[in-house]
Amino acid sequence: MGTFWGPDLEALRREDPEIAGVLLGELERQRSGLHLIASENFTSAAVLAALGSTLTNKYAEGYPGQRYYRGCAEVDRAEKLAIERAKALFGAEHVNVQPHSGASANMAAYAALVQPGDTVLAMDLPHGGHLTHGSKVNFSGKWFRTVGYHVRPDTELIDYDEVRELALAHRPALIICGATSYPRLLDFPVFRDIADEVGAYLMVDAAHIIGLVAGRAVPSPVPFADVVSCTTHKVLRGPRGGMLLCREPLGARIDKAVFPFTQGGPMMHAIAAKAVALREASRPEFQGYAHQVVRNSQALSAGLAAEGMRAVAGGTDTHLALADLRELGVCGRDAEDRCEQAGITLNKNAVPFDPEKPTTASGIRVGTAAVTTQGMGEAQMREIAGLIATAVRADPATAAGASALREIAVRAEELAQRFPAYALGSSYELA
Ligand code: PLP
Repeated sequence: MGTFWGPDLEALRREDPEIAGVLLGELERQRSGLHLIASENFTSAAVLAALGSTLTNKYAEGYPGQRYYRGCAEVDRAEKLAIERAKALFGAEHVNVQPHSGASANMAAYAALVQPGDTVLAMDLPHGGHLTHGSKVNFSGKWFRTVGYHVRPDTELIDYDEVRELALAHRPALIICGATSYPRLLDFPVFRDIADEVGAYLMVDAAHIIGLVAGRAVPSPVPFADVVSCTTHKVLRGPRGGMLLCREPLGARIDKAVFPFTQGGPMMHAIAAKAVALREASRPEFQGYAHQVVRNSQALSAGLAAEGMRAVAGGTDTHLALADLRELGVCGRDAEDRCEQAGITLNKNAVPFDPEKPTTASGIRVGTAAVTTQGMGEAQMREIAGLIATAVRADPATAAGASALREIAVRAEELAQRFPAYALGSSYELA
């Protein structure tokens, strides 16, 4: 991208050199490695400018035109722009841009659609669901009766027959479709049919894929879901935050569920940054970006498979891929450690029917949103697959392994610097 990030770093340095050091250290980390965490990306300088702005000073409980505080004319404009841009981009009837995060958006969606004690049918966590889809350590598993559906053992694709059987057997009030680590397309029309068959609401948690939807690289859930919840900071490339899209009859319930039910004052700086990201995502270039993200993840997945890291579900249609490392005899946790030492950040991930504990895991998850923002293409993905393969096989407990990891770190940094996410100006050099 080659953009220049220009906050008033000198003011921060004077006031708080320790935190200035953190910012510079993190900027350096982001510039010097390869970032393959599937939920991360690099926002534009324009998004960062809106985030680091005086809009953070403003209280604006309520909604545009109906605030509990005075002085909201400017922030009203920002929120209206964010809403209108999201409506136009996704063809949604109603949009709420206030959720502080994807988890907050999900909590508000539950609050709007179901009552504590109701049954919710969602993807089982070890098969790709999110904590907010019924984990016992989360509000969703504590306050609702959750039933999990799975992928099929033979194809590793969602078992739609099981989804229907479970829906008929348990009569859920809400069905959730969406995942954190499912590499294939989701069949929204089938989920809609099942929800209609049992009279359930259908919520699509599009946290991961909403940017691909914006870029027209995967089908949209909007025509099929009662509510679509999402994050704005993954492939969509906006600020950290959440968003809810729904049909008009549910609009008032969704708004009340966000404020005052689950949140207080909205983060107006983040909402302005969401508006900027939505404008960027509606440009034709963003469609090119989203399609390249998918081509890159397909190339990366194929490259890993060629190195003995089997592609879960036979490959990917999205920004992320899952690789099964069992053939190499290395667990996900060790692979994650070794890659980090080699300047490549990715995460361990359970593979379907994983015999290992989640903290060990048999696989890794990789995503291409960030490296694609940097301008990398399929050739670089093949190179990265080779670097990962060497890193995963290198045991840091041996001299040869440790030296291989150091060598890969140098190559990873060289590659990252050929495609800088944020160009440094003189005031950003670390002292
Ligand atoms: N839903 C899904 C499917 C996710 O993958 C995530 C985060 O990765 C979330 C919700 C929660 O988003 P946040 O971390 O912004 O709360």
